[in-house]
Order: sequence, then structure tokens, then C-alpha cells
Amino acid sequence: MRLDLHTHSTCSDGTLSPAALVRAASEAGLDGVALTDHDTTAGWAEATEAALAVGIALVRGAEVSCQDGALGVHLLSYLHDPEDAPLRDSMAAARTSREHRARRMTELIGRDYPLTWADVVAHTPPGATVGRPHIADALVANGVATHRDALFATILANDGPYDIPYQAPTSLEAVRLVLAAGGVPVLAHPAAGRRGATLTEEEIAGLADAGLVGLEVDHRDHTPQQRRRMRDLARSLGLLVTGASDFHGTGKKNELGENLTSPEVLAQIEALGRTAVVR
Ligand code: AMP
Ligand code: ZN
Ligand code: FE
Ligand code: FE
Repeated sequence: MRLDLHTHSTCSDGTLSPAALVRAASEAGLDGVALTDHDTTAGWAEATEAALAVGIALVRGAEVSCQDGALGVHLLSYLHDPEDAPLRDSMAAARTSREHRARRMTELIGRDYPLTWADVVAHTPPGATVGRPHIADALVANGVATHRDALFATILANDGPYDIPYQAPTSLEAVRLVLAAGGVPVLAHPAAGRRGATLTEEEIAGLADAGLVGLEVDHRDHTPQQRRRMRDLARSLGLLVTGASDFHGTGKKNELGENLTSPEVLAQIEALGRTAVVR
């Protein structure tokens, strides 16, 4: 069983529609895929239909943005109730704050490079959770760079000159929101230092005390050493270990299925979640 539990569609900053993503997952030889768009479940219905059509398992989820002071943290939520008001409203507020932030970043970048808010809107699918990748696409279209990737090392870098935080729950609040919504909280790329600072092991232990279920150990932004450290931490805290591609379509180099989660771990996630896995 090949299971990839972290991907993005055009409902956030991926480049494939939810249905195209599910079909691509099937064509990549996966038996199951999780759709985890940033701060939204808007793709769940379309992905469900596609998963039933191609006969692949679909784990419905989201990647919940968290802000711990200046530190941005991502928490995967699997199988929560999408109608749960506190989690749904919190993600809606984060999407609104993301839009204010993207407008402000665009204003600042537009002083130094050719970029307007209309350009960014033109590269953001209607209703999508907006993020730096959409700003990157607009900059590429305006000839500032040739690929999204290059811009994340410069203009759009974490803690770069134009990086502005947005409002989101703390990681501790997010773990509680996800649990209350019947979801299964798994910390995304917990040691990915190349994205900037990360939570300390003590802070992760605090999240485990609050009910965190797993750590996404196998992720391309982790070095072999970081994977070992996170695997050891998961063992000592009694957390599940997951792996995933964090696929974004053509927007990133990540390939579907490049990291996987075991069927035993999915079974434990499924036993804890309020929403069924689609099969
Ligand atoms: P934001 O949500 O606005 O903070 O932007 C972060 C998003 O940008 C994450 O979902 C990443 O997957 C994406 N991202 C980060 N680094 C890169 C990169 N080097 N190339 C393409 N996308 C990236
Ligand atoms: Zn993303
Ligand atoms: Fe992430
Ligand atoms: Fe992601």
C-alpha cells in the first residue's frame, strides 16, 4: 500500500484541481492520498467524487496555519468534521488574514519590482487560499524570475524583506481546535529548518501533552539527520510517524509518492478521525 498523506490543489497553492490531483495520485501508483490544502476544505467534495471514480483511497484533511509569535507552524488535520464551527471559522479567519497580508506584501514588492494586486489576483484561482506561491507566479509572469522556487530564496524568503506574518491560532490552540472537530492532528515538516526556525523538542512535547497524534518525519525538507531526530522524538513521545510528498503540482519539485505513510499508521489515524476515509 502506497499512501501519500500531504498534498495541495488549486484550492490553495497547488497547480492541479482536486480531481486532477486525485487522478495524478492514481496514475503515480498510489493506493491512497490525503488532500491537505492550506486552511480550507473547499476541495473535499470534488476530490471525493474523483477518488470514487478512479478507485483510490482519499483521506480528507487540511494544513492548518499556526503562528507561534514570529514562528509560522503548519499542523495537518486529518478526517475532521468540516462543519465544526470553531475550526471552520478559525481557518476562514486565517484565509482573510492571508489576503490582507498578500495585499500588503504586494504593495511592498511593487515598490521595487513590477507587481500589482491585479497581477496576483490573476494568478490566484477563484476562492483559493492565497499565499506566497501566487505572488511568485505573478512575479514569474512579469519576468522577475523563471520559477516559483527561485523567488523563495530571495524576494519571498521566510524572514525576507517582504515577509509579513498573518493571523492564525498558535500551534497549541490549533491542536485543540482540530481535536475538538474530531480531527487527527499531525505536525507537518516539524524539523524543516530551511523554512526558518522550528519548534523546539520541548514545545513539541507540549503539543503531545495536548493531544498531538503524529509527526510528519519523512518529508523532503528534512535531512536524514533531522528524520532520525524526529523519529526518535516521536518514539519517546508515543507519536505516530508519517511521511508525505507535500506535492504542489508544477509549483514545486516535490513528486507524488516521494515519501509514504504505512498502512498501519493510516489505520490508527482512521480509528481516531470523525470523518471516514473515502474508498
Ligand atoms: P505561505 O503559505 O504564503 O506562507 O507560503 C508558503 C508556501 O510556499 C508553502 O506551502 C510552501 O509549500 C511554498 N513554498 C515554500 N518554499 C517553496 C519553494 N522553494 N518553491 C515553491 N514553493 C515553495
Ligand atoms: Zn503550500
Ligand atoms: Fe507546510
Ligand atoms: Fe503543505
